[in-house]
Amino acid sequence: MTQKHIHDLKDMLGKAAMTEPKVIKVMSQDHYWFSPVLKPQLEHQLADVIVQPTTIDDLAKVITYAFEHNIPITPRGSGTGNYGQGMPMQGGIVLSTHSLKEILELNTTTAKAQAGVRLGTLEREARKIGSELRMYPSTFATATLGGFIAGGAGGVGSVTWGTLWDQGNVLAATIMTIEAKPKILSIEGHAALKAVIHSCGLTCIILDVTLALAKAEPWQQYVVSFADFLDALSFGESIAYNDGIKKRLISLHEWPIPSFFKKLVEQQLIVKNKSIVLLELTLNPEELEPIIKNHQGNIQWHGPHQSYASGTIKLSDYSWNHTTLWAIKTDPTITYLQDSYDRNKVREQLKARKFMFPELMHHIEFMRFGGPVYPQGMTLLYFKNKQRLNEIMAFSEKLGIPIADAHTHKLDEDIRWNGQPILDAKQHWDMKGLLNPGHLKALESEE
Ligand code: FAD
Repeated sequence: MTQKHIHDLKDMLGKAAMTEPKVIKVMSQDHYWFSPVLKPQLEHQLADVIVQPTTIDDLAKVITYAFEHNIPITPRGSGTGNYGQGMPMQGGIVLSTHSLKEILELNTTTAKAQAGVRLGTLEREARKIGSELRMYPSTFATATLGGFIAGGAGGVGSVTWGTLWDQGNVLAATIMTIEAKPKILSIEGHAALKAVIHSCGLTCIILDVTLALAKAEPWQQYVVSFADFLDALSFGESIAYNDGIKKRLISLHEWPIPSFFKKLVEQQLIVKNKSIVLLELTLNPEELEPIIKNHQGNIQWHGPHQSYASGTIKLSDYSWNHTTLWAIKTDPTITYLQDSYDRNKVREQLKARKFMFPELMHHIEFMRFGGPVYPQGMTLLYFKNKQRLNEIMAFSEKLGIPIADAHTHKLDEDIRWNGQPILDAKQHWDMKGLLNPGHLKALESEE
């Protein structure tokens, strides 16, 4: 990209085209550094210019200009993606959606909002009318709607509602194509949305999304401790697999993971050598107590529903990939695996893998996927080297624990990536391949 291109964009957008080195650095990076493998590979990737259009018309002008001059465009929400999928591999434009953040329609069953709205804002507004998001990532305070749809999977709420791919959660999206005269298309229906959900900025610019909402529940939060992680697991299963219990979060942490949760330690919610389960559900303490006793646990803390959205302790801040964040803050050599257990063999799988690789620390979230609920691992480990990491992943696969590889930024290097709808859509919507280049192995020779 030349200086002339940058001047042209500044003329076009004024202050919404930014080149200050600090801004370029911050806005070019996502949370790729969660992976010690990706860190050295990606830390020098920088955009040439950050643009943050305030209107759809300005956004279209940027795309027209980029198309005409063959300039790569990397869409960006808040940059909380974990595996470098938002890093500009070939410089060019990083396109921030932060100024496109209007809630367009909100009723008790659906919400339609622009891509740049923060999920935390959407949740807060939905709760005002007695509804709530079906699911959100633990980064919901900062993450954008567009970034979640394009880069996320599920999170808090997924134990009940499943993932972004589960039918009925994401209802529609409006997208913009990358061409001389960008088209605005409405994408509806489960099959068509596969080209948008988890498309990682490769197929289109998401302008707005329509989500199905749930009825807001009076969620109560609990920290429950267990001397034995397998008791914590049995307890978690008894809640997760019981459809009669309303729940939003069941997050299991083997000791020493709870010791990484500095704020909970300071508030004396953590007991040395004990594993914990973090819960968001509607049961009262007297209803929950007998279930906990069956599994030899103790309630360490209870947050009643009145303090759910406003209290100082939000347990989801320690769940999903926030667990990894607290761990890395404690010891930067820690990293993680994204693994899915077989719900009928999970105990054998946990034991066999830990026997071979004692550096593993178990973190499990429960998540519905295509019907049933599964124990989903976000296992922590002390990173030694890439070879050891590969050995752990290969051994896991042999045990029947599929791993979604969080240590590559090439989406199609993960054998479970169902990328055909994305590759097909890219051919039509981004025919010059300008969107987020460098993140697909299949297209390497063309780029
Ligand atoms: P970004 O990181 O900015 O973008 C993500 C991807 O989407 C990039 O490839 C980008 O190019 C693309 N993109 C962004 N906006 C658009 C757009 N408008 N059009 C087209 N493409 C776009 N993920 C989960 O699913 N569940 C979790 O519980 C979870 N927990 C996390 C915890 C931590 C501490 C961290 C660091 C990450 C976590 N993540 C989780 C990953 C990430 O936070 C989420 O997926 C989040 O929703 C991404 O939103 P964002 O606005 O930061 O997107």
